[in-house]
Amino acid sequence: MNSEQISIYDAAAVDRIRAEMKFEPRRLRALRTAFFKKFLGAEAAIAELPSEVREAFAARVQFHPLTIVEADDSEIDGATKLVARTAAGYLIETVIMRTGTGRVSLCLSSQVGCAAACQFCATGQMGVAKSLSATEILDQIVLANERLRAEQRQARNIVFMGMGEPFHNEAALYDAVSALLAPELFHHPSRYILVSTVGIPDAMVRCARRFLDINLALSLHSARQDVRERLIPLAAKFPLGDLRTAIAQVNQIQQNTVMIEYLMLASVNDSPQDACELAGWLAGLDVHVNLIPYNPIAGSPGLRSTERPERDAFAAILREAGFVTTIRYSLGADIAAACGQLVQSENRAIAKEQATAGAH
Ligand code: SAH
Repeated sequence: MNSEQISIYDAAAVDRIRAEMKFEPRRLRALRTAFFKKFLGAEAAIAELPSEVREAFAARVQFHPLTIVEADDSEIDGATKLVARTAAGYLIETVIMRTGTGRVSLCLSSQVGCAAACQFCATGQMGVAKSLSATEILDQIVLANERLRAEQRQARNIVFMGMGEPFHNEAALYDAVSALLAPELFHHPSRYILVSTVGIPDAMVRCARRFLDINLALSLHSARQDVRERLIPLAAKFPLGDLRTAIAQVNQIQQNTVMIEYLMLASVNDSPQDACELAGWLAGLDVHVNLIPYNPIAGSPGLRSTERPERDAFAAILREAGFVTTIRYSLGADIAAACGQLVQSENRAIAKEQATAGAH
């Protein structure tokens, strides 16, 4: 965006331009519908304006804060990974997941890198942690949907499970979710929005209060404090007891069931004893458990995914204890295998360059 340009998301500024250019508010509404609801693209959206102002409007208003640099379609199933560049030069990933039933989920990034530094996560090993702006978060949805339009599809589930910790970027996250829900913008149903967190208790409660109908997921991965701290260094700061209290509070505030994500790592957190402790820890909470097969990453050669028989036994114990337990159907194993890793070295280099230049 050059310095004179304003963002299409800045409603007040866009309306001032409209007043200057003297066209009716309904033309701007038509533009927004074309861009944010129908995902027709900037050019088609601008075509909703009177012909004499189109060129000047296009020069003044920026529609896409991100630039797509790569799109990889999975060769084995319905996943597409988009790699986009931010204004600051970093790369982020957005994953489109098409399921057999024709539904589409979109996995968004909330940050470049992540300060949580989880042992099993490529993003956490990037050595960078920069927050995206709300418009950079939202542009991932627009860009993905513009591509999906060619297939007559649209993303239904919007999940914050890409790069970054959403609650380390709370203000931009809330601005993005508000825009997603806003009738004049995306008007996306709240029940199809899910925020996944490494586990920041106060933020979980704040988010639930603010957005009563969106879904929350907690990456628990172990109900044992020592094991959890080994996997998730940040867990030392937010002990299991506080997380349990937070889930209970979220259950009070919201009707929605909280999702418990549990990454299955062989001989780390996958024994029948682990399952029993998990069931005990979850007792009395309104939750469902999603078991996640581990996608090996280069930085953690010691970790292995749990084999199917052990995973099934683990799930059986939870079900026996009365918890709805599902196993994450992993799409795009070929492209997701590189999840976060592809952009890791380039982002590291950019961060270094910017540090040398004294930029932040
Ligand atoms: N920071 C948030 C959201 C991003 S991670 C969170 O922690 O929830 C989204 C999910 O992917 C989390 O449950 C995370 O634990 C999981 N994940 C990270 N690395 C993974 C890997 N290598 N294989 C499988 N799941 C992974």
